Parts: sequence; C-alpha cells; structure tokens
Amino acid sequence: MGISRRPKGDKAAKQAQDGGRGAASGGKPNIKKAAFDTTKKKEIGVSDLTLISKVSPEAINENLKKRFEGGEIYTYIGHVLVSVNPFRDLGIYTEEVLETYKGKNRLEMPPHVFAVAEASYYNMNAYKENQCVIISGESGAGKTEAAKRLMQYIANVSGGGNSSIQETKDMVLATNPLLESFGNAKTLRNNNSSRFGKYLQLQFNAQGEPVGADITNYLLEKSRVVGQIPNERNFHIFYQFTKGASSTYRTSLGIQKPETYLYTSKSKCLDVDGIDDLAEYQDTLNAMKVIGLTQGEQDEIFRMLAAILWTGNIQFAEDKDGNAAVTDQSVVDFLAYLLEVDPQQLISAITIRILTPRNGEVIESPANPAQALATRDALAKSIYNNLFDWIVGRVNVALKARGTTAQSIGILDIYGFEIFEKNSFEQLCINYVNEKLQQIFIQLTLKAEQEEYEREQIKWTPIKYFDNKIVCDLIENVRPPGVFSAMKDATKTAHADPAACDRTFMTAINGMSNPHLTPRQGNFIIKHYAGDVSYTVDGITDKNKDQLLKGLLNLFDQSGNKFLHTLFPHQVDQDNRKQPPSAGDKIKASANDLVATLMKAQPSYIRTIKPNENKSWSEYSVPNVMHQIKYLGLQENVRIRRAGFAYRQTFDKFVERFYLLSPQTSYAGDYTWTGDSKSGAKQILKDTSIPAEEFQMGVTKAFIKAPETLFALEHMRDRY
Ligand code: ATP
Ligand code: MG
Repeated sequence: MGISRRPKGDKAAKQAQDGGRGAASGGKPNIKKAAFDTTKKKEIGVSDLTLISKVSPEAINENLKKRFEGGEIYTYIGHVLVSVNPFRDLGIYTEEVLETYKGKNRLEMPPHVFAVAEASYYNMNAYKENQCVIISGESGAGKTEAAKRLMQYIANVSGGGNSSIQETKDMVLATNPLLESFGNAKTLRNNNSSRFGKYLQLQFNAQGEPVGADITNYLLEKSRVVGQIPNERNFHIFYQFTKGASSTYRTSLGIQKPETYLYTSKSKCLDVDGIDDLAEYQDTLNAMKVIGLTQGEQDEIFRMLAAILWTGNIQFAEDKDGNAAVTDQSVVDFLAYLLEVDPQQLISAITIRILTPRNGEVIESPANPAQALATRDALAKSIYNNLFDWIVGRVNVALKARGTTAQSIGILDIYGFEIFEKNSFEQLCINYVNEKLQQIFIQLTLKAEQEEYEREQIKWTPIKYFDNKIVCDLIENVRPPGVFSAMKDATKTAHADPAACDRTFMTAINGMSNPHLTPRQGNFIIKHYAGDVSYTVDGITDKNKDQLLKGLLNLFDQSGNKFLHTLFPHQVDQDNRKQPPSAGDKIKASANDLVATLMKAQPSYIRTIKPNENKSWSEYSVPNVMHQIKYLGLQENVRIRRAGFAYRQTFDKFVERFYLLSPQTSYAGDYTWTGDSKSGAKQILKDTSIPAEEFQMGVTKAFIKAPETLFALEHMRDRY
C-alpha cells in the first residue's frame, strides 16, 4: 500500500524538521520562501553558536559582539536562545515581525524570542505536552522583557474569537503592569528591576485557547520597603500613589507627595528617566479593574500602602532611661486610625519587646530607639510582604481556569545568580534556587541526552559536566543537617539571642564536611556551579527565622480592620516548642515544588546577557559579557550540543518524511519502500550523499549531527 505524497499533512512535516521539537501552529510548511528570506539577509557571525569554528568563551563572545554591533541580539545554541540586551527599540516586536514567525520552524527563521514562543505553543498542541520557558540572566539583562514578548506572542496566536478567551488574555496581560508596580523598583542596574521571582503558568484547553493562569511568586525583596541605597527607589507603586492619588485618598488616607515620607524620600530619588509615575498609576488602576478587583478591595490595598508610608514617619528619641520615646504623637495617632488599632497599643507593640525565654516566662523589656526603629520597619515590611502575597493570590482567583485545562506553558522569570561584596541570607536563597534550576538543566538536557545515546547505542564521547546535586544537598539536606537546617537548629537551641544563634550556626558549619563548603572567620564560602560566594553569618539566623514580633501579631489580631486579619491570618503561636516554618523552609518547599512542575514540562531556555553596566545601546563591555558567558555555562552548553546530535527521528518517520530523496524508496513521487525502515533510512542518507560522520543509526532512531544537514535534506525534499 502506497503512502500519499505528503504524509500526515503539515503537522507531521513540521515536527519531522526539528527532531520532533519543531515549531508550527498548523500553518503552511513554507520552507522555500523562508529559506529565501533568511539567505537574502547576510548573516552576521553565526546564528547558532554550535557552528563557531573553535569553542571558547572568547569565540562565543566575539560572535555575540559582532551580532550585537550589527543589531542582531539573538543567537541560538541549539534550542537555547541567547539574547543580548540592545537597550533600544530595534523594531523587532511589531505585529509584522510577529506574523513572520507564525507557523514557522525554528530553523527557517532568524533566532528570535518569538520563535521560542512559537515552538512552545506548537509543541504543546502537537504533542499534548506541558511546556516551560526558563529565563535566566543577571539584573537588567532582559528577562522580564523576554517574558513579556513570550506572552505577547502566545496571546496573539492562541485562538480568541470567544469573549471569555479574550477576557482571560486581557487579564493575563494586565498582571504585568499590576505586579510590576508592586514588585518592581528602580535600582542602579535596572530602572524596572523585578524584586521578586515569578512563575507564570498559562493554561490552555484542548483547542490551545487560554482558559486561565496561575502565578507563583518567590522571595519579594521586602527590605526595600523601608530603605534603599542612594539613587535607588522603593517599589514603583509608592511613587505612583503619592504622585497620583485622588483627592479622596489624599483626604481619607493622608496621602501627600513622596517627599513627605521617609520611606520614599530618604534615598533622594523620586523620579526616574523614562518612567511616568502618573501614567503608570492609571495603568495600575486599570489593571486592577481588568483583573476584577472591587473598589472595596482597592481601597483596602491603598489603605495598607498609606499605613506603610506613615509607619516610616514614626520617629523616636531617647528618654532619660535610654528607652525609645515617640517624638510626634500625631503620626502614631494617624497610623492607628489607618490600621484601626488603639494608639497606645500601637506604641507599646513597637517600643516594648516581649521576650519569651525557654522556661515559658514572658518578659517585657523596653526598646531603645534603634530597637524600636527595627520593629517599626518590621511592621512595614511584613504588611507589604503579606499584601503582595495577597495580591498574587487575588490575581490567581481571578485567573482560575474556566473550563478544563489540557496543557500549560510556564514562564519562569527569576533573578539570576548573585555575587556581591557582602552576601547574606537573601543571596543564599537566590543562589540556592539557581542551583536547583541548574539541576534541572543538567537532568533534562545533559543527562537525558547522554542517556538516550546510551539507549540507542550511539557512539559518542561522553562530555564531562559538573553535577551540582552535591551543592543542592549541602544547602537543603535535613539529615545530616545542611545549611538551612543548621540555621533552624541554631535558632532552636540558642533561642532569643540572635548573635548566639549565629555563633551556634557557625559551629555547625565548622562541623560540616563537604568539598563545596569552606568555613572562615564569621563567614563561609560555598563553591556554587557559577562561582564561589562568601556568605556573612552575622544576622543570618534571624533572617531565616523571619518571625514577626509577638507584640505586632497581637496588635494585628486586635485590629478592627478585617483586611489586616486576612493578611495576618495566623493566631499568635502560644506553643513555644513548636517552630513555625523558617524562611529557608519556605524557599526550599517552593523551589522543590517549582522543580517538580518544571520536570513535568518540556523546557526551553532563554539566557539573557547584559552588554554593559550603563544601560547603553552602543557599549559592549567584553569583560562583563565574558563573565556572564562563564557563569551561564554557555561554553559547556555549546560543547554538549556539538558533541551531540541536533536531530533525531525514528526510522519510520524518517523514511516517511524523506522517501522522495532516494530512487530506492520512491518512484515518480510515490512511496515504494518495502524493506525495514532502518535500511530505508540508511538508503536515503546514502543516496543524498550525506557524509558518514554526519549521522549515526541507533537502535530505533536516526541521529543527525548538524542542523544544516537536516536543512539540506529539507531543501532537497522541497525541490520535488
Ligand atoms: P531584573 O533582574 O532587574 O528584573 P531583567 O533581566 O528582568 O532585570 P528587564 O527589566 O527585562 O531586565 O530589562 C531591563 C531594561 O532593558 C528594560 O526596561 C528595557 O529598557 C531594556 N531591554 C531589555 N530587553 C530588551 C529588548 N529585547 N529590547 C529593547 N530593550 C530591552
Ligand atoms: Mg525583571
């Protein structure tokens, strides 16, 4: 029985092109035209780093530099997209450009974030597989922009006649301005820096139409609420609100200009070039509306923001006994009004510390001004942190899938690896999450790739790679205790005194034996996959404990404000023996959940690179880029990719696709092969004169080394 000329129609044709990982959304397999388009424009350097002549960080850098200077910011390493921030509008995200990527295979078009989006969307529909895109890179490298372009593309191509689908898309897109207002801030490195990590899962029905979404947020940088270094700002929302608040809010919530509040004015940076806070305030309000936040909910949110702003204005002087005394009672009274608590109780919660040593006693000790300021700041930070979580939760309620979710595409936009002069608990958490992501990268790409070669009995030289599981274990193990557990144990034994807890923790670190850990005086060095980082011990156990003072919890409990109760739902834990989850426990749990979710999906990677520290479109700093090439592991990535095979396909499918290319397998355009498919595949490769070193026959699949070889086959096929 013969097989018709174009077996299985467009979809089979498309998936065959790219080893079953190709891209197309049921469009026309228009290879000839696209090939013409891509050859028309002279390529700058190589568009896939696997094609550079000699693999070294210098050669990778050279190629990226050439392309950057020629206005080409995207380059592949096989399926990994490398993107260099252009810091200017290159006109590459227009509707017209987007159209050209629709239904196209990755190999047909110049590298682009749209091609990654197209591939994910196509693969989700064609293979009924969940997809995820993992975006990494340092602050300001372009992660969030890439995430937004992915969303733009997917929203554009995914169905949409129906009003409920359109509504879902509008809501999903509205989450960007909303969460950016509350979670992003101007920093020295990026005027719109995300100060939280985000995993957005877009949910689709069986027809590939979006039906809902779910957002998970990670580690908001809550310390920014109460202080910023010079020339950085608090979260955008505070400037939007203080500049743009309506007269109603100004009166009822005591809102004045940002100059009025310590938390928005201390760092002396009220305006940012290129950011129009007034216009963005309107965008935020509009996003709230699109997502369906009621006026009542909005009022509650802004009331909390006002409370935070006024909290920062409480000041203390030292009384005759050295204890903290409030300098301006009217500020306290106004804050008490906003929080709906008793002013006296509010003062006590901030200026009297309740200590509960191990014997169960309760000791009340007056705070000195420094301690009172710390408690005041803790109050503001905790309200903001819980408010942010509440907003994300509320967004998720609004975006809950309407109808059955068949598949999903996840987009992970999370801070890259951090090495600062001084690294503390926050960097440990961030770097730990990056270690976990590296684990997935290893497991899903390197390990799985090598295992397939073994299964298929393909001859290849194993590539040495560092399996960072040992570092993950060092941080997250429970027994014997890893770094997080040791911190928690230290808080249990040394209890109320943070310094004593840090010392106990350091003793535990000294007792650990792991080649990736070096204890030092007052700090310890972890040898991460991306470099060595020295973590300061001072204050680390207290940050891990992350407990709000009992006095503040009691205060919130007694507030007349229901929303505050929603933000702080837990009753004060009276049982001192039971330790609540620490910040380390929480990040460990969410990192492991994330890993489990990502492992169930087909991953794509976007590695973003920042060409300079000055947000400049013309400057390409070689040392900076070299550093990023190194810690993003691009060289290792290219090596593995080159040692491996760009394309693999079962013999059956291979013959089905390319039978036209051999007189042994076809006659006058008809399929004539009657032998086994492995011999058929061999015959085709022989008759097309593909060099022997370019392919290998496995047990069930044919493996082809270079994407160009595959493309040559496609060209030949297309000539028939
Ligand atoms: P952070 O970790 O601080 O959140 P990030 O990696 O998310 O950083 P982005 O906010 O995406 O960085 O990018 C920083 C700025 O760089 C953007 O505000 C924009 O001005 C510019 N930029 C990034 N990507 C692009 C791009 N593809 N085209 C044009 N400009 C870009
Ligand atoms: Mg960002």
